[in-house]
Amino acid sequence: MKDLSNKADEKKQEFLKMFELLKSEKDLRKLEILFKSFLKDLYSELKFFDLNEKKTNGKIINDFKNAMQLEFSSAYEKFGLESETRRHDPSIIRSGIKFGSVHPLIKLYKKMEKIFLNMGFSVVQGPEIELDCYNFEKLNMPPHHPARDMQDTFYISSPEVLLRSHTSCVQIRTMESIKPPFQIISPGTVYRVDDIDPQHTPMFYQVEGLVISENASFANLKSILIKLLREIFGREIGVRFRPSYYPYTEPSAAIDMSCIKCDGQGCQTCSGAGWITVLGSGMVHYKVLREAGIDSERYIGFAFGLGLNRLALLYYDLNEIRKIYENDVSIWRQL
Ligand SMILES: [Zn+2]
Repeated sequence: MKDLSNKADEKKQEFLKMFELLKSEKDLRKLEILFKSFLKDLYSELKFFDLNEKKTNGKIINDFKNAMQLEFSSAYEKFGLESETRRHDPSIIRSGIKFGSVHPLIKLYKKMEKIFLNMGFSVVQGPEIELDCYNFEKLNMPPHHPARDMQDTFYISSPEVLLRSHTSCVQIRTMESIKPPFQIISPGTVYRVDDIDPQHTPMFYQVEGLVISENASFANLKSILIKLLREIFGREIGVRFRPSYYPYTEPSAAIDMSCIKCDGQGCQTCSGAGWITVLGSGMVHYKVLREAGIDSERYIGFAFGLGLNRLALLYYDLNEIRKIYENDVSIWRQL
């Protein structure tokens, strides 16, 4: 039977001599490197053995390793590195592989999702390739409605099949398939014909929410969104609601938060305004409820939507939306 005992013994004698000659911590560190490298060689030879030989030789290697670790422990003590001994194992062979982590955009979404789940919302997903009727018509945007221009998208086959320009289509699909009351969020990728610039990309992430019940009110909407923003940023944040227009909600409101950089004093991030628009919202238009088959005399609803990328710029203090997609590890490591 082939075995590694001679090889390990010879090396052991060699190392023992080197331990005797150690003069400094630097010498000890060099010896650690030699030891790791030799141990790696020994382990790599195991693959040439059959099962029985592997058992015998695995034990030989372990005995060698344990004997050497004892020597290292006394050497650490000799150079006053006693505490390091406990956490330092010179036999660990590092592969050099660096592990990745969850993308910061997804991390931010997960934080947001948790806040919504705690408030009793469910998460609903839908298709990214949509029909015109779900993306526009059922949302009170018939053909040639001017609001379609603001959400110009990419067509798979004109005029019927397109890439969704918002996740509101998921809201319509939900209203058609679930009986109220319910409260959902619909996260996902959306597409618009926007040229790439510091604030725009033709693809981005949205999180929209919809609550349908017999007594949903604008006050509920306000309290949910104020809670959301304060919990995301972990501090008091000024929030204001401005009258706005969306074809699918009436009344509609744009929601601004006080600039987290200047606390409302005015800076470059907020263009001197002290406020940054982060959400769109409103009470669901009765025509939208009717189109989705919901009794608009009995039920009332509110909806809201935000661009996750835009919020990520504020959350991570980035100045360009493109940085989110460039996967420049040096940027993400600083966050
Ligand atoms: Zn500011």
